[in-house]
Formats: sequence, structure tokens, C-alpha cells
Amino acid sequence: MRIFDPHIHMTSRTTDDYERMHAAGVRAVVEPSFWLGQPRTSVGSFCDYFDALLGWEPFRARQFGIQHFATIGLNPKEANDERCRAVLAELPRYLDKDRVVAVGELGYDSMTPEEDEVFAHQLGLAVEHGLPALVHTPHRDKLTGTRRTLDVVRESGLASGRVLVDHLNEVTVGVVADSGCWMGFSIYPDTKMDPYRMVAILKEHGTERMVVNSAADWGRSDPLLTVRTAEAMLASGFDDDDVDRVLWRNPVEFYGQSGRLELDEDASDAETFEGNSVLRGSKDA
Ligand SMILES: [Zn+2]
Repeated sequence: MRIFDPHIHMTSRTTDDYERMHAAGVRAVVEPSFWLGQPRTSVGSFCDYFDALLGWEPFRARQFGIQHFATIGLNPKEANDERCRAVLAELPRYLDKDRVVAVGELGYDSMTPEEDEVFAHQLGLAVEHGLPALVHTPHRDKLTGTRRTLDVVRESGLASGRVLVDHLNEVTVGVVADSGCWMGFSIYPDTKMDPYRMVAILKEHGTERMVVNSAADWGRSDPLLTVRTAEAMLASGFDDDDVDRVLWRNPVEFYGQSGRLELDEDASDAETFEGNSVLRGSKDA
């Protein structure tokens, strides 16, 4: 089993996580830039963070046999903070960098006029730079927020096949499926989606344009929930090829549209995954 986690905030995880992820089959990750919990007060804080996502973190991941890519953007929450706006002028130089495979995460938090403006502006940057976009959907008033997100995407001129709409659930998956955008699901330990609900969605909507992530960050989260979802898929009758499609080939196809997703040959080498069963067996020990 090979796993590509298309949305995980490794900056807030430890080397133990990298070790466990590699042992379980995770070979590549995309780390979207987002907010840090503590509000930023200046543009310099963004630039240092982006530099870390493109320099230090790929180096750290590499020590554990994992390839690391990033998405760069002004997150929806901080789009509302006057002090952070000037980072928009810094984005073009980051969007030209090799390991940047999309603009993101963008979208809505509280659906303010400021968020509207920053979201549309950054979708324009995606068009200009030939990059796909990773779009976050709000946690409150989710269906309204998702519909409004899809309207803004349509108006942007960015092709729906180059947009991944993330943090979906049973309520929002349908409208995104109809839009032609890619569908992302964040699997969490005790809120939002869990592996079994995810399997039910895959049974109903199929595996096309579907991606699954752990969205692990500094909050309660688990970087192995991608693997747990793969196991739940197998247990419910999906085969190895279905699992490989959702947990590897789909995210590779989506971010591959950047032209920058250069994966090592041995990333797909199943020979190196023998630690997997041992890890599974000991997870409750
Ligand atoms: Zn995120």
C-alpha cells in the first residue's frame, strides 16, 4: 500500500509522526500553507513560514523517506486581517518555486467581503501561474459556504478540473461532484469525517476525483487516518486498485497538473512496505 497525503500540516508534527507515516506506507505529502493558531502581525512572518515550507520541511521529510510538496496562499481566516493583506504582493515569487504544486489553501472562513476579494484574487493567481487551487470550505454553514465557493470558482475562469474543494462531508459532496471539481475529505479522530463515513461516501459516489487526507495539524488529529481509511475500504469490499486510486493516483493526478510533482521512482516500491502489518498490529499496544 502506498499513500499520498494531499493535505497535512507537517510543520506542527514530530519526527515520530514521520517515522510512523513511513512505516505505514506514506511516501509523499502536500503541506498547504494555513494559519498558525497565533495570529501573524506582519508579512515577514508569512515569508519565513513559506520559506520553511519550501526549504526546511522537505529536508526534514526526506530524512524519513517522504517527499514533501507545498501549496502557497493567504488563508481565509487571515484574509480578514489588515496587517496580513500585503502578503498578496509576495505570493507571485513563491508561486514560481519548484515545490509549489498549487495555490492554497484558499476559500471561506466567515464569508466576509474581505474573504471574497482575497479568494477571487488568488484564483486569478492560479490561472496566471498555471497552477491548480486547493480550496478550504468553512466549518460553519457548510453547504451555503460550499455553494458560494463553487460560484466564485466558476467566475474565476479556472477550470473545475484544476480545483480541489476540501473538508467535504455527506452534506456537501453532491454539489461539488456536480461541479466537476475534485472532492477532498479530511478524516479526523472525533469530528467531521471518520474512515467508515468516508467508505460510505465512496460507495455512493465512486472513486473518481476523490481524495482523502488527514489534515493533521497542531489540533487533535492523526496522520495515519489516511491508512485507516484504506484499511476500512479493503474491509468493506473495495480492492487494492481502488485503494491505490483514491490514496495515491488521484492526488498524483490532481497535483500533477502543476507540472512540478516529481516523484521518486521508489515511491511506488511496494517492497519497502513490510513494516505496515507490524505497525497495524501494534497500534493499540
Ligand atoms: Zn489545512
